[in-house]
Amino acid sequence: MATAGKVIKCKAAVAWEAGKPLSIEEVEVAPPQAMEVRVKILFTSLCHTDVYFWEAKGQTPVFPRIFGHEAGGIVESVGEGVTDLAPGDHVLPVFTGECKECPHCKSAESNMCDLLRINTDRGVMIGDGQSRFSINGKPIFHFVGTSTFSEYTVMHVGCVAKINPEAPLDKVCVLSCGISTGLGATINVAKPPKGSTVAIFGLGAVGLAAAEGARISGASRIIGIDLNPNRFEEARKFGCTEFINPKDHDKPVQQVLAEMTNGGVDRSVECTGNINAMVQAFECVHDGWGVAVLVGVPQKDAEFKTHPMNFLNERTLKGTFFGNYKPRTDLPNVVEMYMKKELEVEKFITHSIPFSEINTAFDLMHKGEGIRCIIRMNN
Ligand code: NAD
Ligand code: ZN
Repeated sequence: MATAGKVIKCKAAVAWEAGKPLSIEEVEVAPPQAMEVRVKILFTSLCHTDVYFWEAKGQTPVFPRIFGHEAGGIVESVGEGVTDLAPGDHVLPVFTGECKECPHCKSAESNMCDLLRINTDRGVMIGDGQSRFSINGKPIFHFVGTSTFSEYTVMHVGCVAKINPEAPLDKVCVLSCGISTGLGATINVAKPPKGSTVAIFGLGAVGLAAAEGARISGASRIIGIDLNPNRFEEARKFGCTEFINPKDHDKPVQQVLAEMTNGGVDRSVECTGNINAMVQAFECVHDGWGVAVLVGVPQKDAEFKTHPMNFLNERTLKGTFFGNYKPRTDLPNVVEMYMKKELEVEKFITHSIPFSEINTAFDLMHKGEGIRCIIRMNN
């Protein structure tokens, strides 16, 4: 490509201050250095984590910053030492990486890479501690190694998954974070047997993806639990067969579920971030074989309390990060699940807007409207 090795000037949505609308600016994007790639982003979407760190309430404020981590794009150029990606490759950026060399990457059981595990406080590249974005020589910081709210971005090669070039990037871009997290939590961690009963706590994007995972696994009953009944109708599309609003009952949800299921559900997946829901998700599984999986990110001071007898009665509690998927190794296969029509991605996409209107995506998320809003970089 003619641009390889040169600084690219392009548009990016810059967050100058916490909580202030993003502003579209012309930024300079430096060429990728050793083990880095520069990617032309075509589609990106907004996830709660972007909003969380943009609001920076209780988070380390790192500004000015370019947010964005769910996206799809095409490799523009690669830095020294990059052998498994080339210009033209279709890719999904990932907020957590896979170096392929550390003990975690070498273990079949872990996806928590030592080198490239998510770091929300770092605003620079891991290689040289510098930012690749600038405006008039002033650095603009990165976010979780991806910064996809820019027409071009630079990432460590370990945070980039190469996917089937036939896959439509305007659809599969949503697989780079929340949807894969929920899907993997069920398919890879809860592993519901065919015909089983699965409870899903929290029916946001992650919970709906967890329900989709239960549907794909062949669960026969999928019980959705949410405090917001507006989520229920939508959740039917993701395989939920029954619903509980804890507010409608004066007994604990665990008991409501036990009565509905002859003693407890076979699997549960918690996707709320609420500590009470986490305890309920564990205590509602059947003794002898039940497995509960925690996905939600709890508040800093949260403590999980349950009677140890619940474990002795052979219930299992697990937690997962990014649905236990190894980003580079496994995401291409998740895309293939979509290509083979096993996984339905379209139903997660409720809105689509041009890049110039990116702040609308924040408004939609604040109002709790829809699931995913695709932001089109080329209009
Ligand atoms: P969301 O806010 O869109 O959805 C959460 C849902 O939970 C809402 O519908 C809400 O009404 C419901 N809820 C809240 N408290 C509840 C309670 N006590 N009982 C029942 N329902 C309750 O969020 P999301 O984007 O779907 O993300 C869900 C969680 O997953 C968040 O905590 C997020 O931080 C976390 N997450 C974890 C990982 C990971 O790798 N472990 C990755 C991405 C997101
Ligand atoms: Zn690693």
